[in-house]
Amino acid sequence: MTASEAKGVLARPGDTIGILGGGQLGRMLALAAADLGLDVHVFTPEKDSPASRVAKKTWVAPFDDRDALREFGASVKVATIEFENIPPDAVDLIEDEGTPVRPNGRTLATAQDRLAEKTFFREIGVEPAPFARIDHPDQIQPTLEKLGGSGVLKSRFAGYDGKGQVRLQGKILPYPAWAEVGQKMAILEAWIEHDRELSVIAARSADGQFVAFDPPENNHGGGILRASTFPSTAPKAVLDEAVSLAKKLADALDYVGVLALELFLTKDGKLLANEFAPRVHNSGHWTQDACFTGQFEQHIRAVCGWPLGDPTRHSDGQMLNLLGVEVDAWEQHLRDGAKLHLYGKRHSPNGRKMGHVTKLKPRG
Ligand code: ATP
Ligand code: MG
Repeated sequence: MTASEAKGVLARPGDTIGILGGGQLGRMLALAAADLGLDVHVFTPEKDSPASRVAKKTWVAPFDDRDALREFGASVKVATIEFENIPPDAVDLIEDEGTPVRPNGRTLATAQDRLAEKTFFREIGVEPAPFARIDHPDQIQPTLEKLGGSGVLKSRFAGYDGKGQVRLQGKILPYPAWAEVGQKMAILEAWIEHDRELSVIAARSADGQFVAFDPPENNHGGGILRASTFPSTAPKAVLDEAVSLAKKLADALDYVGVLALELFLTKDGKLLANEFAPRVHNSGHWTQDACFTGQFEQHIRAVCGWPLGDPTRHSDGQMLNLLGVEVDAWEQHLRDGAKLHLYGKRHSPNGRKMGHVTKLKPRG
């Protein structure tokens, strides 16, 4: 049995849990953990990170610092991650030393490589947008034609917020496109003319219990999430199907914790998977204000082996990301009655996620 296959309660109130990564997701996880009587240790290469300022202790070290990882692992009962690009080796090392990490290294490796991720989707019967592997710029034009002449080239590794992607249509210049995604292994995906984008945020416990939040509808601008609206106005049958796809994914990964599945709803009513995130997700940030149990608390409960909470939504509304200088409107949002969540980032260069607001109204 690997450490992550451990069952039962892994940490009790008063114990310390670990978070790999120091961004806003780690911060909100740490706040939820504190509310449940847990102390948090953070491991991040970044000094003065959003998570470290609400944690008891932080290791500031690169993810290949094996001594620091060992020390961190030994100081916590169980660890989790707040972004998916943590090297699986770092997770494996902590597990080999006897501390469970949820989700496990195998799940991370699948999520980190878009090719592995989409191949896995196909294998388990969660249909992704049509895609093909690209290892050389000369493959781009013929593959684009096979995919219908309109697509998006995505680097296989390390993309987020639309970075490492380029939209392609018709006759293209393959070398500049290749340069734009970092001249590394890539995939080319057919462009999906979608009616809307949905996501399913759901939790699975170590004993296989699965609970999902009502799927929100998501609007992106320039590849970055701008707003999530809940509930989605898509037909109930579509939303039920979306949740069942997320369950299929979570079961296939033997997943423990909260995960998110991003989906396109095509114009003819079909759901296609875009990607999954093995963690709490930006499109679920409203759940902490609009549901009996929010995604951050839910994730901590699952990771610690505690009973999952009730994800029922008590309010309708919208979550808006505050990007860059948009955060300067914080006071106005408070006056307007929105719930404000700021991530404590020191600088606000354009586009950086600085916080979010949730606008609530009673459930209709
Ligand atoms: P994030 O971190 O925000 O999830 P990412 O860098 O992982 O972003 P994707 O989720 O692949 O990138 O793409 C970002 C957005 O770009 C999608 O949510 C969608 O709006 C648009 N997009 C990506 N791929 C496609 C596609 N094949 N067809 C249509 N739109 C797409
Ligand atoms: Mg995405």
